[in-house]
Amino acid sequence: MKLYSTNNHDLNVDFPTAVFNSMPLDKGLYMPVNIPVLDQEFIQQIDQYTLPQIAFKVASALLDHAIPAEDLQKIIDEAFNFDAPVVPLEAETYVLELFHGPSLAFKDFGARFMSRIMAYFLKDGEQLLDVLVATSGDTGGAVALGFLGVPNTRVTILYPKGKVSEIQELQLCTNGQNIHAIEVEGTFDDCQHLVKQAFADEELNRKLRLTSANSINISRLIPQTLYYFNAYAQLRRAGKKEVIFSVPSGNFGNIAAGLLAYKMGLPVKQFIAATNVNDTVPRYLKTGIYETRPSVQTYANAMDVGAPSNWVRIMDLFNQDKAALQEVLKSYSYTDEETLEGIHSIYDRFAYIACPHTAIAWLALEDYNKENPQENATGVFLSTAHACKFPDVFSEEMSSKIQVPAQVQELTAKLKHAEKMDTEYGSFKNYLTTFY
Ligand SMILES: *Cc1c(COP(=O)(O)O)cnc(C)c1O
Repeated sequence: MKLYSTNNHDLNVDFPTAVFNSMPLDKGLYMPVNIPVLDQEFIQQIDQYTLPQIAFKVASALLDHAIPAEDLQKIIDEAFNFDAPVVPLEAETYVLELFHGPSLAFKDFGARFMSRIMAYFLKDGEQLLDVLVATSGDTGGAVALGFLGVPNTRVTILYPKGKVSEIQELQLCTNGQNIHAIEVEGTFDDCQHLVKQAFADEELNRKLRLTSANSINISRLIPQTLYYFNAYAQLRRAGKKEVIFSVPSGNFGNIAAGLLAYKMGLPVKQFIAATNVNDTVPRYLKTGIYETRPSVQTYANAMDVGAPSNWVRIMDLFNQDKAALQEVLKSYSYTDEETLEGIHSIYDRFAYIACPHTAIAWLALEDYNKENPQENATGVFLSTAHACKFPDVFSEEMSSKIQVPAQVQELTAKLKHAEKMDTEYGSFKNYLTTFY
């Protein structure tokens, strides 16, 4: 597999290089030079395949022999040992539940694959691998649980103080071993900025072997394509043909993976990027002006991103052709008030409890359906996290009906530890180089 940088199409690196560098020095993002189109026969018969089989087919096409088949199958079987069911709510509305992994969020797909890929390529006796992650909530937990106990790795997670939920914070701060949490006095963008400064710091990079586990890492993007294929397989089994995916979006990694799946031949009628008031993308699609803004805090805090990193990947997938992209991608944004209304509507109509991110995806699907009443496709909105991770937004009645999985209950008994830090890069660098 060969990868280029979105800032330099002549760059050409192999898969392990892209995985460990995470970001090219020119600060672009890695993208596959060749996007393989899966054979029609496979797509036509996809309803006969299981999730691990689909994962293998999709990953081996993308990785193009970067990992021998037997090893790749083993990584896949270990990484995706949980389900991603599409659950019907009404005749043409389904929810794709991506929260059945250990951190109860869809980020488990990316993080569990990435950690195993990194462990696979790490050779005995090599320098310790320092994984840096900025998280707005869910990334941290998924990465922490993905890397926990992986030899020769050390994970540092930065999260914005007071802006992640209690369960999320517990998932970040109770691991011990090779996992370290830093509570930053600032926003998610501040955390992300600190990590980016570390990667651009030549002196630091001479001392430490740094890598990123954020959604910019190509080994997180690749495994996210598979649940789109797997959802499609399930819908085909249910007799559905035309599919619309509505994706709650923040850093736009999830929907970038969906669009990559589309480019690999997955028949999707429409993608919908659903955002909270951090609406850089919906504004761009409406006005043609791409203007990032500082992030604003919302109930859907994992989507509080003012400058979505993966957008450059999406533009590249469509050769910078906004008109072509707009045929496939619509985008809507919602306030906190609308999000709450959405949560209640879903509960009233389907007795289903959706987390705020998920509710936003449903609202966008509803709005799309209203604008396109003649379309006779099946709408699937992605549920990116278990409702129990966001207890503050629900009414008492709803809260009492949320079933908290056992692994979360166990967390509350554990000891919490996080290093407190300001947003000065000097403090972070100092910590990385001296305080471990
Ligand atoms: C990370 C996250 C998102 C946003 O996903 P992106 O890939 O960053 O667009 C949405 N919902 C939840 C629950 C998340 O954790």
